[in-house]
Amino acid sequence: MFMYYDFLYLLAISPAVILGLIAQGLVSSAYHRGQQIPAKTTGFGAARRILDSAGLNDVEIEQVPGHMSDHYDPRARVLRLSPEVYQSHSLTAVGIAAHEAGHALQHAHGYLALGIRNMAVPIANFGSGIGMILLMIGIGFHLKMLAIIGLLLFGSVAAFQIINLPVEFNASSRAKAELVGLGIVAHQDMGPVNRVLNAAALTYVAATLQSILAVLYYAYRLFGASMRSSSDD
Ligand SMILES: [Zn+2]
Repeated sequence: MFMYYDFLYLLAISPAVILGLIAQGLVSSAYHRGQQIPAKTTGFGAARRILDSAGLNDVEIEQVPGHMSDHYDPRARVLRLSPEVYQSHSLTAVGIAAHEAGHALQHAHGYLALGIRNMAVPIANFGSGIGMILLMIGIGFHLKMLAIIGLLLFGSVAAFQIINLPVEFNASSRAKAELVGLGIVAHQDMGPVNRVLNAAALTYVAATLQSILAVLYYAYRLFGASMRSSSDD
C-alpha cells in the first residue's frame, strides 16, 4: 500500500530534496548573519514606512508568535510579523518585513498573480490532502480512474506552487526597491538583505520542483505501468 515511499520515488524527488536542504541551510545562515547587522529601524518600522508611503495607512501590523511565521493576510489586510522580525533592528528583520509589505503592495495594486494565488489556495489545500489519499487507494487497489482523479488533485498543488513563484519573486523585488528607495537601507548595505530573500525564494523553488517531480513520478507509474500491461508491484 505505502508504495509512494519506495526507492524509485525517493530517487525521483531526490534532486528537489537536496536543493531544498541546501536552500534551508542558506536561509538559516543568511538569517542569522543578517541578524547581527544593525539596521536603522525595526522590522515593524520598515514595514510601516513602506505601507505608509504607498498610502496603506489602514493596513495594520501585528506581532505573532513563532519563528519565521511572518505573512501578509489579504483577507484581514493585516501584516503579521514574528517577534524577531517585528522587534529587532537588523537587516534580516527589515528585509523580511519589507518582503511581507511587498505582498500588501501587490494586493493594493491588484497584482494579478496574487489574486490567482489567493483563489487557488483552497483548491490546493483540498487537493493536497484528498488527492494523495485517492492516489494511494487508486494505485493500491488498481482503480485507475480514482488514481487519475487523485493525481489531478495532487497536481493542483504543484500548479498552485508554480503560480506562487512569481508572487514571491515579485514581493522580494518590491521589498528591495522600497528599502533602498525610502532610504531604510543604503544600496551598498543590501547584500545581507538580498541573501536572506534570495535564499527564501530558493526554498519555494525547491518545494515546487519536489511537487512537480512527485506528479511526474505518479503519472509515470499510472500510465507507464498500464503500457507495460503486466508489470506490477
Ligand atoms: Zn512571501
